[in-house]
Amino acid sequence: MSLDHWLVRQTTRPSFVHWVERFSRRMPVRQGPLQRAEVSLTFDDGPHPRWTPAILDALERADAKATFFVVGQAVDAHPEIVLETRRRGHEIGTHLYSHERAVSLDPRRFDDELSKSRQQLEALLGEPLRWLRFPYGEPGLQDPRTVERIHGVRAVHWTYSSHDSRARHATDVSERVRAGLRAGAIILLHDALFDADRVSAPYVADRSATLAAIPAIAELLNQHKLRAVTLSELFRTA
Ligand SMILES: [Zn+2]
Repeated sequence: MSLDHWLVRQTTRPSFVHWVERFSRRMPVRQGPLQRAEVSLTFDDGPHPRWTPAILDALERADAKATFFVVGQAVDAHPEIVLETRRRGHEIGTHLYSHERAVSLDPRRFDDELSKSRQQLEALLGEPLRWLRFPYGEPGLQDPRTVERIHGVRAVHWTYSSHDSRARHATDVSERVRAGLRAGAIILLHDALFDADRVSAPYVADRSATLAAIPAIAELLNQHKLRAVTLSELFRTA
């Protein structure tokens, strides 16, 4: 077993994931405000030519807006999907240029990764980049406050992971989302799995479970009288 595989296996153990989720709640990473009946659905690792357009259609039918944390290398390959995502009223954040774990990047390489992504997205979209999600949700050696001061980009974690990177059925995803739905929730989902070629089981590169879960998630939002909005809307101060 390679070191990569070993690390992935260790860091996806339920006990470890649980620990990370508990620990991350105490990190100085933005989380949703609680005062409004709104949540943010966030999709990491795209754009993907097969899954992202289908997810955009499903979100439109659900009348939901989301935030997509895109990987720079995938943006180079499919800029038109990012433009279409924005055109449909969703927000674009960065998931760094090559989806490297921040813990394996020294500060200079981290700055390069973020600067490159930022220039790429700002040139493409013609608006300032506001949001960053660290690959794997791990800031590593980076201090999110310093990153915000230097780059003007806020790091945002999730309050709840749907664990859809390992889900095979829509109900696996929607039942997880049900457990995490509350005002201010930031839900982690995936419209692609950038490292799917590099890691084996338990990851599922096929995103059909996530796609098929969107109508059920929309129904849950209706039941809870929650609206799915972009991160900028969720964190608006007015
Ligand atoms: Zn990712």
